[in-house]
Amino acid sequence: LDDAWAALPNPLGVPVEICAGADVPIESAAIDELLTVLDTARTLEALAAATPGLDREPRIDRVVCTPDFHKGAGIPIGTVLQTSGALIPQAVGNDVNCGMRVEVTSLTVDRVRPHLDALERKLRHLFFEGGRRIGLTAAHREGLLRHGLPGLLAEPVPAEPEGAWSQLGDEDVAAMHAAGWPARSAEGFRDWITSGGGTSYDSIIGSVGGGNHFAELQYVSAVHDGPAAYAWGLAPGRVVLMVHSGSLSLGHQANATGQDQARAAWPRSVPLPANRILPMLLDEATTARRERYLTAFANAANFAIGNRFFLALMLRAGLASVAGELESRLVYEAPHNLLWPGPDGTVVHRKGATPADGPSPAAPWGEPVIVPGSMGAPSHLLRGLGNTRALGSACHGAGRSIPRGAASRGGDAELDAFLREFRVVTPLDHRDPAVAARRDVVDAWRRDLKQEAPWAYKDVGPVVESLHRAEVALPVAELRPILTVKG
Ligand code: 5GP
Ligand code: MN
Ligand code: MN
Repeated sequence: LDDAWAALPNPLGVPVEICAGADVPIESAAIDELLTVLDTARTLEALAAATPGLDREPRIDRVVCTPDFHKGAGIPIGTVLQTSGALIPQAVGNDVNCGMRVEVTSLTVDRVRPHLDALERKLRHLFFEGGRRIGLTAAHREGLLRHGLPGLLAEPVPAEPEGAWSQLGDEDVAAMHAAGWPARSAEGFRDWITSGGGTSYDSIIGSVGGGNHFAELQYVSAVHDGPAAYAWGLAPGRVVLMVHSGSLSLGHQANATGQDQARAAWPRSVPLPANRILPMLLDEATTARRERYLTAFANAANFAIGNRFFLALMLRAGLASVAGELESRLVYEAPHNLLWPGPDGTVVHRKGATPADGPSPAAPWGEPVIVPGSMGAPSHLLRGLGNTRALGSACHGAGRSIPRGAASRGGDAELDAFLREFRVVTPLDHRDPAVAARRDVVDAWRRDLKQEAPWAYKDVGPVVESLHRAEVALPVAELRPILTVKG
């Protein structure tokens, strides 16, 4: 078992563990970055010394890195950080509540395969050519930001010709890590709430977002755990929808609020730390500042849930246009950039890591763990075991193996071969002769795609295997892609 775990020696006595089998490559740059993060243990000591009357010593309790661990900006992606007496806005990641949503449909892959050309056209129209008509009133927007999906659905649903909202069933809301985070207000996002006056087709919601975000059609290609797969509605050949997106500009704004509030709460006598990571103590004097951050944070987190909901509806609408009526059932919706305040002043932060709790009455097979591979490669569904050594967390993907810059150079023959084999729907239709004639546009598009190519990511097989060996989660099913929509 221990070959799936590596303990990192560190001078400050914070327990740090990396969950990754010997066959999963770990960047040394990510380890260096992680060691720098540990200096925050000293920052917390300095803050405590400057703040008389604290109930408890603020500290970092534990740090866990998942198998897709790689260098991020300041804090590596794939880092789970448990603190007590303090929270760290930067340990959440910029894209607040970036996450995954998975649905299983009533269609089988054979029903869809013959229609891929028409499906591609329809999806391009829905995702990129103004085809989605998501009519929202200010009340819908405010309801979503303050209460998540139940807040959105509490308002009457407008009749829409395409991608009509279907009410979520209770079982769907149960199949979410959380349907929403309560927020007392949504004042910070007034501009978005009132954009367009009355009912208007929203131009933001339903955007995939760039880079590694995607909306993908997949099918169940292998079942490893029959009973769990059956309970989740996954049968071989079934078409599955997987959505990966976050809170777009709202998350960045919430994060900026977090940094501003942390800086404003900073005691004058404590120098700003060299690693630039600014924690906020959970003390009374900073309650109002923390509230301001946590309100913006909850608003952005709720927006992300709504965005994934609409993206899945758009995939459903695309499928319905070529295959007729279909049913689609939520398997799970899970955040991977978030913080969870717990009892006793503890806070679990996950930056690019997904919760993997063990069985509970609501999830008798354990929490579903969604591990996407990469564009064109298989993805996996696992069931969580609630491993406390891993802070009940698993990886949220295969993880990058080549930095973006390096991945965008060379590799043109590989990209051509890839595009002959695999269907990627992007805003740009590279097969359109008028588009193909514009070399500069096509070259920029090719560079972007190469950054997201399967060879820029780790092989997901050993990544999933190390979760299994470390007793973090057990494999349930493998999903192979049919087509990917990339923002
Ligand atoms: P992140 O949340 O850090 O942006 O990335 C999530 C993970 O999604 C990546 O580590 C990668 O393994 C996976 N991924 C990126 N692009 C795609 C894609 O187009 N399809 C699938 N299935 N997975 C992807
Ligand atoms: Mn993400
Ligand atoms: Mn994201």
